[in-house]
Amino acid sequence: MKAEIITSGTELLLGEIPDTNTAYIAGQLAALGINLYYASTVGDNFERYSGVLKQAWARSDLIITTGGLGPTQGDITREVVSAMLGEKMTIDPDLKKELTEFFTRLHIEMPDNNLKQATLILSARAMRNTAGTAPGWWVEKDGRTIIVLPGPPREMQTMWENVVLPRLEASRSAIIMSRLIKTWGLSEAAVDQLVSPFLKESNPTLGIYAKPDGIQLRITARENTREGAAEMIARREREIREVMKEHIWGVDNDTLESIVGRLLARRALTLAVAESFTGGLLALALNNVPEGQGFFKGGVVISPCARFSWNLGEPGSATATLMASQVREKFSTDIGMAIDGPGGPGPAAPGSKLFIAIGNDRANEVFTPGYMGRPEQVARRTVNHALILLRNFVDRTS
Ligand code: AMP
Ligand code: MG
Repeated sequence: MKAEIITSGTELLLGEIPDTNTAYIAGQLAALGINLYYASTVGDNFERYSGVLKQAWARSDLIITTGGLGPTQGDITREVVSAMLGEKMTIDPDLKKELTEFFTRLHIEMPDNNLKQATLILSARAMRNTAGTAPGWWVEKDGRTIIVLPGPPREMQTMWENVVLPRLEASRSAIIMSRLIKTWGLSEAAVDQLVSPFLKESNPTLGIYAKPDGIQLRITARENTREGAAEMIARREREIREVMKEHIWGVDNDTLESIVGRLLARRALTLAVAESFTGGLLALALNNVPEGQGFFKGGVVISPCARFSWNLGEPGSATATLMASQVREKFSTDIGMAIDGPGGPGPAAPGSKLFIAIGNDRANEVFTPGYMGRPEQVARRTVNHALILLRNFVDRTS
């Protein structure tokens, strides 16, 4: 099956709102194992919209549109679909009743313009909109399907989850399952090389993605049964673990802070942090971990003017170590950790050196990561790196 997405709205072409509907639907189709070959955006213009739809009709089996279902003259999706199929729109009595009741409940008189939201064509069945007024259309004709969805993301997603997804799932024969494997410490190219034999296979497929928390591998298997797909994924995961070894830190929904949190909670260890360069980002990450209350005792943010009263010199290995030991003492924790770098509030100069220190009552370690990019990207990567180092430190020392 070849699928295609058409989003409509002149505001999308003006760059006034980002097209999040395409990203959502594309992700959903990928998870269903439906091949998406094209996605286009068109303004609220009858000729151009008709042109894009005709082209889609000629080359795709499944066409999904969003937007243009509102009550105004600029909302033309129904008109474009009907004209292309050569079918006349008529007002559906049931839809009209539902629409009228909706307005009655709100104590608003229904403008006549809204009536066009109660129209249907012969090949279309209405899809209820529980989050708004515009019903969607599910159109089937000549072996092809057009799914017409509203533009507001919340309405579109609600209709997708309630109506579209169950129908697409029911019409699908194979089971699609996937697993995400998360790694750290290797470049995308290095990972690509390590897993290259698997990248050529078509089932299960393997995808590589660079993310702020490392390189991710997605295994996707297509099988007739759930058990079959799970077995395929498990086998491929074992093979990947054999080559990626300790570079793998998590799977699926794991985050670096969640795995560090679980590790510390399991070992009954407590942690305090001090940060200059990252301005509390490390503390925020730890604060969001469910187990946080148990192990995370607190953190301080040091801005440049506070360095003096904390007896901190210029950023460096010794300073970072001192910061880590000071918070360990102040919060009475097993482990102290510090991220130090130039500046405080405001961006750091490109290429500035950063220092991550971790210590307990027996050992102190300092690392100097080097990252390039925008300051907020560098900050996030540094925090991620710090969390990985913390995991390794706990593994080694306790
Ligand atoms: P419409 O159904 O065309 O009247 O769209 C109503 C509203 O939905 C627009 O004003 C946008 O705020 C939003 N919208 C429409 N299309 C998209 C899209 N592709 N991605 C995100 N938001 C959208
Ligand atoms: Mg619109």
